[in-house]
Amino acid sequence: MMIDTKKTSEELIAIEEKHGAHNYHPLPVVLSKGEGVHVWDVEGKHYYDFLSAYSAVNQGHCHPKIVNAMKLQVETLTLTSRAFYNDVLGEYEEYVTNFFDYDKVLPMNTGAEAVETAIKLCRKYAYEKKGIAEDQATIIVCEGNFHGRTTTIVSFSDDMNARDNFGPFTPGFVSIPYNDLNALEEALKLPNVAGMLVEPIQGEAGVFTPDEDYIERACNMVQAAGGLFIADEVQTGVARTGRLLAVCKGCNCETLKCDSKAGFKPDVLILGKALSGGAYPVSAVLSNDDIMMVIKPGQHGSTFGGNPVAAKVAIAALEVVREENLAERAEKLGIIFRAEIQKLVDESDLLVKVRGKGLLNAIVINDTEDSSTAWDLCIKLRDNGLLAKPTHGNIIRFAPPLVMTEEQLHECIAIIRKTVKEFKK
Ligand SMILES: *Cc1c(COP(=O)(O)O)cnc(C)c1O
Repeated sequence: MMIDTKKTSEELIAIEEKHGAHNYHPLPVVLSKGEGVHVWDVEGKHYYDFLSAYSAVNQGHCHPKIVNAMKLQVETLTLTSRAFYNDVLGEYEEYVTNFFDYDKVLPMNTGAEAVETAIKLCRKYAYEKKGIAEDQATIIVCEGNFHGRTTTIVSFSDDMNARDNFGPFTPGFVSIPYNDLNALEEALKLPNVAGMLVEPIQGEAGVFTPDEDYIERACNMVQAAGGLFIADEVQTGVARTGRLLAVCKGCNCETLKCDSKAGFKPDVLILGKALSGGAYPVSAVLSNDDIMMVIKPGQHGSTFGGNPVAAKVAIAALEVVREENLAERAEKLGIIFRAEIQKLVDESDLLVKVRGKGLLNAIVINDTEDSSTAWDLCIKLRDNGLLAKPTHGNIIRFAPPLVMTEEQLHECIAIIRKTVKEFKK
């Protein structure tokens, strides 16, 4: 006789509470299986995933092409370190630089590491190519930013939770309001500006979508002032916002080559999350030769960065983006989603607004930032079979995998509609 020794959700949560650090506050649901837009908990209940691991799973859970690429490589060669060459890294470097139209890539693992890499690159370039005096380089960042969790990165965060009691902090950053070109113009008058680091849409802050031309104009202004424009597309990149990159405009998503007439291009591009389709930690910093070549052997690195598994996984993940037209799908489904949710906003006192681009969207709840309403609504959404999580108090981010069908999206909108209608504060 088979004895079912599987633990319940409650038991599994209790184990995590007891043995794991409490640096997260998860929604109480314990997932054990994922496929495409679907996830299942340990009791077998089905949900639509509307978070996609913070947009790491744009290609859908356990995409067979990505899983197969990973399986093959895992059985062949996993890690050599960069002390030796391997036969996969070059293939990936050629692929990813062609894909995003940059000369060079520096492979890392997590988003935060890639941001750190970009900061180091920007500083080194400032000292060696721009003549900025030693230790004086300043990088402009934006209020409400989220770029990761390292000591340097939280040094320029204004999220108290991320910062408090983690000092002393790294100097060399000035923070200006997001979506404010006047503030940028002023900041660019400061001495020793090496560049600007910015998210094309502030995801963690609550999917703050700037004015249509903000990023392009910011990029042009920073470059005109001699600085490097660094786009952190860890969350917005890889088709999430309806284009290959959120900074793309008028790009030809067939070839995914940047159209030179499109007007602007970040000097440094940071990718992570969906670069692996959520199968493996893979991040990347891309730039052209004049910038990337300031880093010489021994000056930066990572044991796992650019390992053969990461390389094969990333190639497969990007092929899926192209083969399954994920950018176009995100664009099309996003328009439907916002239109349908806007109807709900108009009908309901509970919601203030819906905003976003492609399939990176959020609803703002009609309550104070410290209220539990958004959390409570997410619990009800869970009960009704859809998983989402509040970001910053009264905002709920909606970011399903991009492989969703229109029919599935309508099913999900119906779940959100029913949940909002039935919800009592
Ligand atoms: C998630 C995220 C990061 C950090 O990525 P990790 O892999 O969690 O270190 C950096 N920048 C942005 C915009 C992100 O959304």
